[in-house]
Amino acid sequence: MQQAPTPKNEAERFLALQTFGILDTSPGADFDALVHFLASACGTPIAAISLVDGDRQWFKASVGLTFQETPRNISFCGHAIAQADKPFVVSDAREDKRFAGNPLVTGDPHIRFYAGVPIVSEEGHALGAVCVMDRVPRGLTELQLDALAVAARLIMTLIEHDATTRVLAQTQKAKQVIENEQRATVLYLNRVEDERLRVANELQAEMSRRLHANHELDYSTTHDALTTLPNRREFLRMLEAAAASIRTGSPQHRTFAVYVIDIDHCKQINDSLGNDVGDNLLVQCGERLLDVAGVEDLVARIDSDAFALITFGTSTVKTAKLIARRIQASFAAPWHLAHIDCVVTASIGIVIADERYSCAEDIFRDANIALDHSKQHGRDRYTFFKSSFGTEHKSKSDLQRTLALALSNREFRLAYQPIVSLASGAHEVEGFEALMRWQRSDGIAVSPAAFIPAAEESGLIVPLGTWALKTACLALREWQRDAGPTRMPVRMSVNVSAIQLAASHFSSVVRDIIRETDIDPCALVIEVTESAAMLDAQRSLTVLRELRDLGIGIHVDDFGTGYSSLSYLRRLPVTCVKIDRSFVSADGCDELVDPVIVGAIVSLAHQLNLKVIAEGVETSTQLNTLRNLGCDSVQGYFISRPIPACDAAVFMKKPED
Ligand code: C2E
Ligand code: MG
Ligand code: MG
Repeated sequence: MQQAPTPKNEAERFLALQTFGILDTSPGADFDALVHFLASACGTPIAAISLVDGDRQWFKASVGLTFQETPRNISFCGHAIAQADKPFVVSDAREDKRFAGNPLVTGDPHIRFYAGVPIVSEEGHALGAVCVMDRVPRGLTELQLDALAVAARLIMTLIEHDATTRVLAQTQKAKQVIENEQRATVLYLNRVEDERLRVANELQAEMSRRLHANHELDYSTTHDALTTLPNRREFLRMLEAAAASIRTGSPQHRTFAVYVIDIDHCKQINDSLGNDVGDNLLVQCGERLLDVAGVEDLVARIDSDAFALITFGTSTVKTAKLIARRIQASFAAPWHLAHIDCVVTASIGIVIADERYSCAEDIFRDANIALDHSKQHGRDRYTFFKSSFGTEHKSKSDLQRTLALALSNREFRLAYQPIVSLASGAHEVEGFEALMRWQRSDGIAVSPAAFIPAAEESGLIVPLGTWALKTACLALREWQRDAGPTRMPVRMSVNVSAIQLAASHFSSVVRDIIRETDIDPCALVIEVTESAAMLDAQRSLTVLRELRDLGIGIHVDDFGTGYSSLSYLRRLPVTCVKIDRSFVSADGCDELVDPVIVGAIVSLAHQLNLKVIAEGVETSTQLNTLRNLGCDSVQGYFISRPIPACDAAVFMKKPED
């Protein structure tokens, strides 16, 4: 058996065959039809399309063969492809020494005749052969050989078509895969983008939430929610900055004034008119202070009923005084709270902060000491800090604690100051004013100016005031009992604070005391200050009318220092006004301090049918001027200082005694 010669360019041929990808593909109807046609046309039992692989021949289609492939070295087609340009014909294989021993000849399918035409690609590579075979020796006609040649070209076209279709299908598939992947990628990218957007939005929202929360937190930690003013913490921070600039700042920042402003009786406004009205009052206070402050100044709310003001560049007491007066004037403007005209006053402590101060703490402390001084001296006033205050200062809570103890230890007593009538010219004592005295267990006498405000603030004034009223009435009863024909009938004036007036059932408390002590109600006088009466004007009006209905006299104390409206004074059931001491006497002054004001008050009061008592008369000159101005009665050290009850009898003797 002879080996087939190797075709030219076997490597490229082999590569071309692989490239067409026809090997081992499934049978195709066109190829099958062709082999059947050739077998029939050539009259052979066997026809095949053989593709010659590296070491085998593989049949794409065959008829009359029982196998799909054979080794290349026994293949007839291997010979056919070696002569690519013409048909390869073996008439009788047994007679041909190249094939006589070929197992395909000696065994199944017992080939004797073979005729094959190479299947040649466009590039000239013989990929295999189309052949017919017979088991007997024979030949083919020209026509049959032509048919084989045509079939070979047709097969090549089919192979190319198949390959193209396959490549196309693969390309299509690949394209589809790519498209699918692209679609998936787009979807994925969209999802990623959506997610990115969602996360970005959430982040943005979270950031703005946090920013907002931080801002709110910042704002709420530095500002008061009610008035929107800087709060105490912020005020102290700014005061520290201001204190630091005393040494380092520009000339206009080296001195400034600090005002601590406490709204008088704020608690009573809350108690009597309700918290909403109290809140409204505080908001208005803030607004009024802002109106007084300059653009560079600072107004803060530093406590429930306290504000603070820093005026930068204020270096003199004179300027600070002007500002304090402006604050007072702005508070003097009408207040409409819950449809009621109220009087609201403020106590102010002032410090001029200059190089004497090294820290904010000291400035704030001194302003508060000055404020306490204002409160202890009757409120509704301003006080500049003086170094001598430092030692006097006692904490409010300390004072309130000792007050409560003092009441239970019976450390209080009353002193009585005569009130003298000028009517007859004979200086007759018409009554006494009961004035509270507190002598502590250590022997120290505390001034009413110090303890009355503290008692008012703690609410202790209510039991203390009731005690004073009852004690004064008991003293009066003693005097009334003793009032024989030689004794003058006198009246007892008792001071009543705004807190007592606002407390519920005040008039029934007074009624009970009158009944218990069995005094003539017409001999009792209640002294109320203008601001106390105006604090809750409607309520005061009701209570004072109830008292007046009992026959009790109503005197307006410290007249001229408050802001009461004259029209309101007309509506009050007042029987007498007491001109404040500040218009009458002053240290080292013999004359009447302000005869014009005193004269005006006297004439006004008389036109309203009210009596006038002048307080604080210290000299005979003052007394004479008061008499000339038409004043009805006087009270003061010139007549007598406040004295114990037992010493009062001497003033009640009739002149002829
Ligand atoms: P007030 O009701 O105006 O009493 C008159 C004050 O002037 C008294 O001061 C009296 O001692 C003082 N005074 C009288 N004549 C003269 C004078 O010629 N010169 C000077 N410099 N002062 C004179 P006091 O006793 O220190 O009382 C101060 C204030 O304390 C009283 O002013 C009154 O508002 C209040 N107060 C006193 N006792 C009571 C009380 O029992 N209840 C209430 N709620 N307040 C009271
Ligand atoms: Mg009085
Ligand atoms: Mg008075």
